[in-house]
Amino acid sequence: MKVIKIEVLPIICPSKYKILKETVIFDKKYNMKIHSLTFGPFQENTYILENDQKECILIDPGCYDESDRTRLKDFIESNGLTPVKLINTHCHIDHIFGWNFVYETWGLKPYYTEKDQVLVDTASQHAQMYGLEMSALPEAAGYLPEQGTLDWGTEKLEILFCPGHAPGHVCFYHAPSKAVISGDVIFRLSIGRTDLPHCNHQDLIDSIKEKIYSLPGDVELFPGHGPKTTVDFEKQNNPFVMG
Ligand SMILES: [Zn+2]
Repeated sequence: MKVIKIEVLPIICPSKYKILKETVIFDKKYNMKIHSLTFGPFQENTYILENDQKECILIDPGCYDESDRTRLKDFIESNGLTPVKLINTHCHIDHIFGWNFVYETWGLKPYYTEKDQVLVDTASQHAQMYGLEMSALPEAAGYLPEQGTLDWGTEKLEILFCPGHAPGHVCFYHAPSKAVISGDVIFRLSIGRTDLPHCNHQDLIDSIKEKIYSLPGDVELFPGHGPKTTVDFEKQNNPFVMG
């Protein structure tokens, strides 16, 4: 029997996941590019989706300090990108640290699902528990639907409702390039935590089985922490939820 090394990836990532100083660019050989920058004390992956018009969507901006903020701004500017939308997979503090900066810099307020409002409302207490600072958060631009599509230029992102790690967690699926921005639902050989307030373990397992494992096997998953993976790899190797 194959021995699988189990890695439980908490919200605070173990130090073995080094902060990526370089921007990781996943060119999907489609007219959308996926860029990733890793930010903050939780080493959270922020994603920047770029279309062929050089417009971009910012997802889960976790930039925490001045150096993170500078890296995000430099990246956007040096690539000549125009941020047009700010969206979140879910609203844990490590995914929203950069909201205020994004709002002040590009005038974008966040979109997230209504069920995650409770996480936004308790974010500053949550940050205090970790001894971290949380600046005043901009109000929502609007709530994302739990299903449907998000249009941006000629591109469409399909919204997959995947509760469990957070009550209103959604993933963003770009079918043409076979990519999912998957937040903290599933990681390479691990799954999202469910021992925090407002989590539900069974919901998380159901979300993975019904929404993620039902996608084509070669779809790549771009998680909120750690390296990317694929649907097939997790179905065959993930010790928490086998497909
Ligand atoms: Zn989370």
